[in-house]
Amino acid sequence: MENYLIKKARLTDGQVVDILVHKGVIKEIAANIESNEQIISFGNDFVSAGWMDIHTHCFNKFETYGDKADLVGYRQGVCTVVDAGTSGSDTIDELYQQASKAKTRVYSLLNIACTGIYAQNELADLNHLKRQEILEAYQKYPEFIIGIKARMSKSVLGDSGNQPLHFAKELQKELNLPLMVHIGSAPSKLEEIMDSLDKGDIITHIFNPKENGIKDGNQIKECVYKAIEKGIYLDLGHGTDSFSFNVAKLALDNGIMADTISSDIYFRNRINGPVYDLATTMTKLLAIGYSLNQVIDKVTNMPAKLFNLSHFGKIEVGKTADFTIFRLEEKDIELKDSSGKVMTYHQSITPTNVIVKNQLYNLTEDK
Ligand code: ZN
Ligand code: ZN
Repeated sequence: MENYLIKKARLTDGQVVDILVHKGVIKEIAANIESNEQIISFGNDFVSAGWMDIHTHCFNKFETYGDKADLVGYRQGVCTVVDAGTSGSDTIDELYQQASKAKTRVYSLLNIACTGIYAQNELADLNHLKRQEILEAYQKYPEFIIGIKARMSKSVLGDSGNQPLHFAKELQKELNLPLMVHIGSAPSKLEEIMDSLDKGDIITHIFNPKENGIKDGNQIKECVYKAIEKGIYLDLGHGTDSFSFNVAKLALDNGIMADTISSDIYFRNRINGPVYDLATTMTKLLAIGYSLNQVIDKVTNMPAKLFNLSHFGKIEVGKTADFTIFRLEEKDIELKDSSGKVMTYHQSITPTNVIVKNQLYNLTEDK
């Protein structure tokens, strides 16, 4: 399906428009378009640019973390998933093979450890930092590797200190790619990490409930304001134990929002919660006070911007025709964060259809 007309698409900004797609690219957007192409329509459902989840573990290889791209991708209304460091240079060929077979678009943030997350402590052994192999991997897959990933927390680092972060920063300058840094328990201390990062770098797990997180009592730590000032991006990265309603709400009360909403999903937290899918994570942000427009922006426009994926992220003439169609269902739901805190909310974001790589999938029939 390369040429078609979406009739009366309801956008999240309140507009209702016709969208003409030609050869998989948005050709025209107007109040009323006449065309001989196939016509599709999604009734009262919202049509947004295809959702992008920039922190997932969609490499189906290791027992630690992993999943199949399509299970966390199009089947959950997500057009593009980014594997955030499950693979390093040792296994990038295999991740690439899996990705090319997926119906979902897949990209990689290459782990700075050559092993990837084969075990929880991939950076405890400094011999895993192999500069030459990373450069070669990037040379081989320059379109597929869109950034690098360093996991800077106690269980990952062992006694390695901040050396992996310095390695990542040097490498990043050489490759000119965005760097995503995972934060958790110290070491490394949040202040040190924030100090080392520059404009365009990304911190993930920004609302984690740990002591080394962004919250200090009833305040947000000073280093967070400095980081925002510098142009460092804040990514949600929900995960099994990295999202707290309290921290997210305190941040919001102090004028701080996540720049991107991502799930940190893999098979265990997909099946058993508390993540389940990106849509549920998005609903949690609605519940604490983000607007629908903000939530959608943070899974479409912002991820595309952070990784220079300029063909995606917006419903605009010239952009790739990836779409997520969803509903705001009026029903009471219970939402659980990583600390086990439950919030009830009266609406839920539910994807109903997705168009990715020129294929339309009806998700309500699939289930
Ligand atoms: Zn992480
Ligand atoms: Zn992760």
